Amino acid sequence: MKSDMRLIMLGAPGVGKGTQAIKISGKFNIPKISTGDILRDAIKNNSSLGIKAKSFMDAGQLVPDDVVIGIVEEKLKGKDCISGWILDGFPRTLQQAQALDSMLQRITAGIGHVLFLDMEDEEIIKRLSGRRSCENCQHTYNTYFSLPKNEGVCDNCGGRLVQRNDDKEGTVRERFRVYKEKTEPLINYYSQQGLLQKIDASEGIEIVYNKICSGIQ
Ligand code: AMP
Repeated sequence: MKSDMRLIMLGAPGVGKGTQAIKISGKFNIPKISTGDILRDAIKNNSSLGIKAKSFMDAGQLVPDDVVIGIVEEKLKGKDCISGWILDGFPRTLQQAQALDSMLQRITAGIGHVLFLDMEDEEIIKRLSGRRSCENCQHTYNTYFSLPKNEGVCDNCGGRLVQRNDDKEGTVRERFRVYKEKTEPLINYYSQQGLLQKIDASEGIEIVYNKICSGIQ
């Protein structure tokens, strides 16, 4: 099976993985699997998954590996994933990356590209604390560089723009620390396998997107 359209977005929280994943998912007609979105939905719906995940997320900690691995495993079994997918926010630990490798081995498939969005540390912190998202359609904006036409209102659907609980100052620092400790080692992991494409994420959304697309095609 061709592995080109099995894509992973890697990078610190706030570098724009979600924004790019939506665009790529639309262009190549592959489902976007965002563990963060799935967990936030679960919290909204007060499901048992949400109840399990909430305290970790609010504290800026990672949800336990077995929980997120289970979520992704279920999703990847879906019919819509047969011709590819884009993972946003997974894997985030070495254990998750190895679990993904095992899942793919079972169906003799491989990862096409790992798109690593790279950015300076201070810029990341700034972006995270400026991030706002629509509570209705989840579209994201940023008070520093991507403002909606009307303050506090989503351009897409008119929904209210809110700051995620885990984007508040103290939590942002903790999420960043956790990223450095647990997720950054994956850069090496995928680089050694020749899968990593490093992209400068400090440029505008369209520039980053075009670079990603030319790397994939
Ligand atoms: P995100 O929207 O990707 O920044 O994720 C928000 C939060 O959800 C993270 O800070 C974690 O608490 C949790 N989360 C999302 N994806 C994962 C994952 N792959 N492993 C563990 N926790 C995750």
